[in-house]
Amino acid sequence: MSTPNYPPAETREDLAKNLQAVQDRISSAAQRAGRSPDEVRLLPVSKTIDEAHIRLAVDAGCRWLGENKVQEAHRKWEAMTDLDEVKWSVIGHLQTNKAKFVARFASEFQALDSLRLAEALDRRLQAEGCGLDVFVQVNTSGEASKYGLEPQEAGRFIAELPAFSSLRVRGLMTLAAFSTDEARVRRCFSTLRTLRDQIRQDAPDPAVLEELSMGMSGDFEWAIDEGATVVRVGQAIFGPRLLPDSYYWPAAGTDS
Ligand SMILES: *Cc1c(COP(=O)(O)O)cnc(C)c1O
Repeated sequence: MSTPNYPPAETREDLAKNLQAVQDRISSAAQRAGRSPDEVRLLPVSKTIDEAHIRLAVDAGCRWLGENKVQEAHRKWEAMTDLDEVKWSVIGHLQTNKAKFVARFASEFQALDSLRLAEALDRRLQAEGCGLDVFVQVNTSGEASKYGLEPQEAGRFIAELPAFSSLRVRGLMTLAAFSTDEARVRRCFSTLRTLRDQIRQDAPDPAVLEELSMGMSGDFEWAIDEGATVVRVGQAIFGPRLLPDSYYWPAAGTDS
C-alpha cells in the first residue's frame, strides 16, 4: 500500500471536515458506479483513538464506531455509555472465550469465521436476551496471514447458521490484499461480490446476506465500484495511526 498523507484530526473541526470529505468521496464513487450513495454506509474505525478524540468525532456526527480488538472496544464502550446514539461494530478476529464481551455491547460483529464462535456468541446472546447482526469474514486474497473462511467454504458455513437463532446474518466481509496493484485489490472485492450473489441464489431468503463490507482508507473507492455496502474507514477520518498494522493483522504489509 502506498503511504498517503492522512489529514490531521485533532479538533472537532478537523474531524467534521474529514468525515465530510470521506462522505463526499463515497457519494462520488457511488455515483460514478451508477449506485445511490445511500446504499453505502460509512463505518468510522476508531481503533487506537483515545476517548477525547472519539467524543469529538461523535460530536461531529459519527454514529457508528468500528473497533478491531474486542477488549479495546469494550473498555471504550464502558467509558462512553453516556453516548447512547452510538453503535459499536467489532470488525476483528474474535477468540471464542471473548464472545461474552461482544454479546454485552456490540450492535454488529463483522468477523464471524467458525461454527465454534457462532455457537459461543449465540449462547451468550441468548443469555443476554438479544440478537446480533453478523458478517461472515472471507479470505479473498489467498494470504495465509489473513483471517476468514476460504471462498469455497462460505456457502456451506452460512447454511449452518440458522441453527444459531440470535445471529442475524447480514452479509460478507473481507480485507483485500495489502497491495498497490489496483487489479489485484479489485479482484478481492469482486470475489466477495460474486460469492454473495452465488450464495443468495441458493438461499431460502435472499433478503438476508445483502451486505458487502469491504474497503478501507486506501481502497474504499474501488470497493464501492465493486459493490461495497459498508466501508470501514479509520485513518482518512482519524489521522495516521501510530501502531503498525501488524499489531492488528499478523504479517500485514509484508507482500506489498
Ligand atoms: C483498521 C481496520 C480498518 C480501517 O483501516 P484504515 O486504514 O484505518 O482505514 C478496516 N478494517 C479492519 C478490519 C481494520 O482492522
